[in-house]
Amino acid sequence: MSFDTCKDVWVFIESFQGQPKSVGLELLGQGRKLADGLKQKLCAIVIGKDVDAAVKESAAYGADKIYVIQGDEYENYSADAYGNVFLKLCEKYDPNTILVGATVNGRDLGSKIAVSLRTGLTADCTALSVDEDTGNVVWERPAFGGNLYAQILCSETRPQMGTCRPGAFKKPERNENNQPEIIKEDIHTPESEIRTKVLNFIKACEDNDMRLDEADVIVSGGRGMKSAENFGILKELADVLGGTVGCSRAAVDAGWMPQSKQVGQTGSTVTPKIYFACAISGAVQHVAGMSGSGTIVAINKDETAPIFEVADYGIVGDVFEIVPALVKELKAK
Ligand code: FAD
Repeated sequence: MSFDTCKDVWVFIESFQGQPKSVGLELLGQGRKLADGLKQKLCAIVIGKDVDAAVKESAAYGADKIYVIQGDEYENYSADAYGNVFLKLCEKYDPNTILVGATVNGRDLGSKIAVSLRTGLTADCTALSVDEDTGNVVWERPAFGGNLYAQILCSETRPQMGTCRPGAFKKPERNENNQPEIIKEDIHTPESEIRTKVLNFIKACEDNDMRLDEADVIVSGGRGMKSAENFGILKELADVLGGTVGCSRAAVDAGWMPQSKQVGQTGSTVTPKIYFACAISGAVQHVAGMSGSGTIVAINKDETAPIFEVADYGIVGDVFEIVPALVKELKAK
């Protein structure tokens, strides 16, 4: 791919069962910033069997162009099929920049495209900007256990690529009046070239349990909760506020909570409207995953706990007294 001819910022709109995941829509906001900085177009790449919802949302979240690739073979993600589509599109359109969500599938796809195109990919980014003089995207990601933020450039090859954490960026404003150019591409991948097959999906969460990235309110607990059973009081608070329960890594390591509920550098990055940190000390690796929350409420019996440095409201006291009192008060309203 050539520096002289490459153009446009592409965002992969990952979908599951016909519905676009939030991360692709969040990346349209970042893609817009990069596209404006590079004076290029923002393009959404929609691949799937049922693509209507993803096309509609990509338009509402600001894409200038939407490339649509539809086929039975794209109903479920596979690196072979989706990778084939991307490589064919790249060959034809020569993109400057590609953004992909750092989901399980996005990490797989991003690395497959980068290796095939022999270009650079910065994984797990949490901030993006453009160096307008050189046209390089400045990819920022946590390094050395979250103690440093590294800024990485892909200055020798194109396209420049990055995967970005779900929840690290807010979705841009919706605009129902945006009318992007829709380009349908007839790309098919023969079944013989798809080496993996999805047999079944098994839900990781209980049926009535919300995913962390979908919740407006998250009530997280840490090592100070002392047992799996004690997370019941956090569930009560989450239920009364219409939210879900999260946790620190210490709670996962202790076997009290599943990894899918871990917030932080090696868990999920979340941006709920309200985040409760209950008996969590506020280690840098935890804070990296929740500091973008709207309002942060910390409950900790140690007044010197670092969590109070990022909290909007701090309550110094015993979580086993404060949380039940909060639940009682909220239920009485
Ligand atoms: P602690 O640090 O032990 O804190 C427990 C807190 O509970 C204390 O502040 C204590 O005062 C308070 N407490 C105790 N009893 C009560 C009570 N009754 N009422 C009120 N407060 C009470 N951590 C993450 O969370 N997410 C990550 O993604 C993550 N990734 C990591 C990646 C790497 C490479 C490394 C090295 C570490 C990572 N960690 C992560 C671990 C992180 O460094 C901390 O060890 C962890 O966050 C600590 O969890 P905690 O706050 O629950 O436990």
